[in-house]
Amino acid sequence: MSTSLNTLFNPRSVAVIGASGQKGKVGYALMQNICAGAQRNIYPITLNEQEIFGLQVHRSVLDVHEPIDCAIIAVRADLVASVLRECAQKDIHSAVVISAGFKEVGEEGKKMEEQIAAIAKEHDIALLGPNCLGIIDAHADFNASFAVEKPLKGSVAFLSQSGALGTALLDWSNSEGLGFSKFVSLGNEASLSELPFMEYIADDENTKAVLMYLEKVTDGPRFLELARKITDKKPLVILHAGKSARGGSAVMSHTGSLAPEGTVFSSACKQSGAIVVNKLAELFSFAKLFSMGFLTPKRRLAVVTNGGGPSINATDLIDLSESLELTVFPRETWEELKKVLPPMASVGNPVDLIGDASSLRYDAVLKILTAKNDIDAILFLVTPQMMTDEEAIARVLVMHAKEKPIIPVFMGGKSIEPAVKVLRENGLVNFVFPSDVVSVLDLFTLYPEKKNVLGVGGASTRLAMVPMEEMRPLLSTYGVYLDGALMRTKEEINDALWSIGAGPFVIKAISKELVHKSDLHAVKVNLSDAKAVEQAWSEIETEVHEHSPNAHIDDILVQRMSRGKEVIIGMKRDAVFGPIVVFGLGGIFVEILKDVSMRVAPVSKQEAIRQIQEIKGYELLSGIRGEAPVNIDALADIIVNISRLALEHPEVEEIDLNPVIVTQERAVVVDARLMRK
Ligand code: ADP
Ligand code: MG
Repeated sequence: MSTSLNTLFNPRSVAVIGASGQKGKVGYALMQNICAGAQRNIYPITLNEQEIFGLQVHRSVLDVHEPIDCAIIAVRADLVASVLRECAQKDIHSAVVISAGFKEVGEEGKKMEEQIAAIAKEHDIALLGPNCLGIIDAHADFNASFAVEKPLKGSVAFLSQSGALGTALLDWSNSEGLGFSKFVSLGNEASLSELPFMEYIADDENTKAVLMYLEKVTDGPRFLELARKITDKKPLVILHAGKSARGGSAVMSHTGSLAPEGTVFSSACKQSGAIVVNKLAELFSFAKLFSMGFLTPKRRLAVVTNGGGPSINATDLIDLSESLELTVFPRETWEELKKVLPPMASVGNPVDLIGDASSLRYDAVLKILTAKNDIDAILFLVTPQMMTDEEAIARVLVMHAKEKPIIPVFMGGKSIEPAVKVLRENGLVNFVFPSDVVSVLDLFTLYPEKKNVLGVGGASTRLAMVPMEEMRPLLSTYGVYLDGALMRTKEEINDALWSIGAGPFVIKAISKELVHKSDLHAVKVNLSDAKAVEQAWSEIETEVHEHSPNAHIDDILVQRMSRGKEVIIGMKRDAVFGPIVVFGLGGIFVEILKDVSMRVAPVSKQEAIRQIQEIKGYELLSGIRGEAPVNIDALADIIVNISRLALEHPEVEEIDLNPVIVTQERAVVVDARLMRK
């Protein structure tokens, strides 16, 4: 496969089917862009013209005598299949179908798309598209797209499931002076999906960082595997088009409704070490950082400024960030700065050079700061003031940027243009606002960790509860113990209470017909002794009989009444990613606030701890207002074990441990539900 991807990215000879000499046509733009690139044999194919761009036109690829590596197809949708067959006959093994009018327009188009996919498969053609913008390899100087006229050479690859977004990003990058290594507009993915391109790009020497825009993935585990392959070597940023939360089969388990598809995707991506962003602006900002060669997180920052306002704003943003910090300068740095700055200037971090700062003053300060090991990057803020020579300051910046990462934030309009030009000429780019850069630096630092391996697929349909006598031993095999003792008759009360020890007690009815016990008054809490238990038992019998006459009580489960924080640990199977373990605080926190975190199974212990820390209400567990923290370790063990159970028991569709009551000492599972088909 990778050889055919080679010929997609860098063909020696290429046919443009549907080429045109008429400005404004896609076939014209393609010809123009391909001809503007490196020297290669180009064969325009069309029925309408004799010569295009001085090249002889052929009526079909079959009329060309020389071999052809790659076909770029931009003819009407209904003609693509026959064109593709001719390509196969001509022994062409890679093709880009630019033409639209397939799956995206309805049933008819979908059929045509299936047809071309079948032809590609039968004749072993690596087919990109249809309905795509094309492909660019800036290093091979091959631009088979109508996205951008002259792509600049750079080190960032961009794979996009949206063509429109691809054009926007490329166009913007071009005007900002940012280059790309490769660009692939994935289109409808009739044949080649994002996966082979991810694999290719992971090993591509010219690509130092990867950006992806995704709307869907079809093979979750493989996707994660390749995402991980990329992040082993280079940063990967994914913008995922947010899918609205979908209810699904939520009737029987909480977990089902807590992990709608879109959120599972984001969690899974994070788990692969990819950086997940929600905003286009963030994707663009990462493109800037990467193109400057900043390929690793920069956590400890120094801020250099010539104005109070911008630096206060930057400082606030850094304080509010989850992972960044302002380096606290040691005395020695202070002393050094004092020597080169006027008395009014501030020598702490941020370093305020004040309004009349000249390029010499910037130079002196950068000389000091770039030599410090406790600074990972310098946020360089410049506002145009009366005395400011932005252009000269930009030159100073460029000079020192070789010594340490310096992130330019020249704020303003006309007066900063010359400075921005200097930056560009030297491979640097300007950020317009401090917030643009702080938010992406934060994300960058948050997701460098590599995570664990993957699960298996499976879709959920109608589910049934696994009965107690099977569920309890299964959970125990995985070290997860449902608390309490089961009783058949009231004669067993004394023995059961004795085995549990001190009260107060809780009893609940166990029945195949009762899903939500407390809704049916089948849970009684705070029972002090055997007598109270016996009485509560009778009440349950009456109430269950009254509310659900068809329900048969199999057993009564008696437990010690646990006091602590209620959390929920659950599992559901995602159609794309396989088993997902969900964690959240119990009660209103999950039901109303949907404050949950997710991981794809299997989950390692370390990962489970991170998952727990990730919920918004984590502080309620870690101890606020002098409270002792709960046993996070015990919770993490349950997550790990549930994830293993899920992988080894594909028949179990969903799991709800709700609640698990956790204290400083332990985590007690007081209610468990397992669902299978
Ligand atoms: P269901 O979820 O079927 O209604 P549960 O067993 O979860 O039944 O009980 C309902 C609620 O009662 C729990 O969410 C919890 O607040 C409380 N509860 C149940 N068992 C205990 C226990 N052993 N200790 C303390 N509270 C309990
Ligand atoms: Mg419950």
